Amino acid sequence: MFDKVLIANRGEIAVRINRACHELGIKTVAVHSTIDAEAMHARLADESVCIGPPQARESYLNIPAIIAAAEITNADAIHPGYGFLAENERFASIVEEHGLAFIGPTPEHIGMMGDKIRAKETMKKAGVPVVPGSDGPVANEAEAAEVAAGIGFPVLLKAVAGGGGRGMKVVRSADQLGLAYSTARAEAQAAFGNGSMYVEKLLERPRHIEIQVLADQYGNAVHLGERDCSLQRRHQKILEEAPSPALNIEQRDAIGMRVVRAIRALGYRGVGTIEFLYEHGQFYFIEMNTRIQVEHPVTEMITGIDLVREQIRVAAGAPLAYKQEDIRFSGHAIECRVNAEHPRTFQPSPGEVSGYHPPGGLGVRVDSAVYQGYRVPPHYDSLLAKVIVHGQSRNECLMRMRRALGEFVISGVETTVPLHLRLLANPDFANGDYDVAWLERLLAAEA
Ligand code: ADP
Repeated sequence: MFDKVLIANRGEIAVRINRACHELGIKTVAVHSTIDAEAMHARLADESVCIGPPQARESYLNIPAIIAAAEITNADAIHPGYGFLAENERFASIVEEHGLAFIGPTPEHIGMMGDKIRAKETMKKAGVPVVPGSDGPVANEAEAAEVAAGIGFPVLLKAVAGGGGRGMKVVRSADQLGLAYSTARAEAQAAFGNGSMYVEKLLERPRHIEIQVLADQYGNAVHLGERDCSLQRRHQKILEEAPSPALNIEQRDAIGMRVVRAIRALGYRGVGTIEFLYEHGQFYFIEMNTRIQVEHPVTEMITGIDLVREQIRVAAGAPLAYKQEDIRFSGHAIECRVNAEHPRTFQPSPGEVSGYHPPGGLGVRVDSAVYQGYRVPPHYDSLLAKVIVHGQSRNECLMRMRRALGEFVISGVETTVPLHLRLLANPDFANGDYDVAWLERLLAAEA
């Protein structure tokens, strides 16, 4: 096992990783920007190193500074968390070249899945169903039109280099394609430095269902069921739950085992998430995330398995502690992402948290790095806290989440707690009857 792990991240996920390390008896090193000198992740770690100014480019994305911090503190591994450098193939290689362990998959697997087109091809070959569309990027408008005619409108033009829900354009008919193609290309070129596009069938009302996997370097792999992340705004997840209200045991088993076979065939190690769109009983692969995800706690709550702990163990060369038949699902879990944003306009709301009292009680977990007097900096994402509840049934979770959010005191900044309370009171949501565009339709109808 590792003696000392450097955590190359900030906020709630850095605190989360620090917890797993300490429970494994591993010492921790935090890195922080100047504005994060007083941040909770830096205070809770055994050591902390300042790696640069507030701008992420010069601190949390600053590879030489992070490697230097690992060397001076004598860390033997680096955990990248999510975001920042977590899916950066070059970073993973540099970490390994410096004789440090990267707590994640091999750089090759990161590269393979980071390229959406290669990822889709690889999964298709491994027997995982994908969204119908072009085989790779389209060369020009004529080819886009040909593919679109073949799969039928509406289609989605997607930037090869897109991500985080950006770089997608809906095209409803052949006469819209020309203009959409040239604008999408120009936008992708400007935003990602790569104008290359591919074409996919637009699914009108799919759910977003993802499968959590865990694998070691000896070819053992298990799945830990699914998470339903259909509650989205601008393709960003807002609330997640497990199990999905849309799946039964047979469907879960079938897709889970198909994914496990693919993961074994790839020789993948670590934690990973295979994301699907799900419509009319069919799964369509969209992408694989080769890191721990924001919403991992809902899976932990229904399986009792500490995913970050397992991720660290397999990175240190330990064999998987579980076989598929050891994985048991118990009850239901829901996570609400509480952001420092206005609950109606979604304007970011940085500033000082003047009062803070998190909810508690049976079945309530809060993952956060906030404390009273903390100043939310404007430089990073706006996630303040994740409230996760576990209950025997979905209905118990809904009641518990309403109760927990009702108790949550965060003053001084605007938060999305009122949005979550509105969603929890909505009859469609209460029935589990929602898809990836449901929240957008609701917000548009209210506007
Ligand atoms: P990103 O890497 O930008 O997050 P994804 O491919 O994972 O992009 O897609 C993000 C979200 O965009 C999905 O959860 C879904 O809401 C929507 N989406 C992606 N592809 C399609 C599609 N073919 N049809 C309908 N919606 C889609």
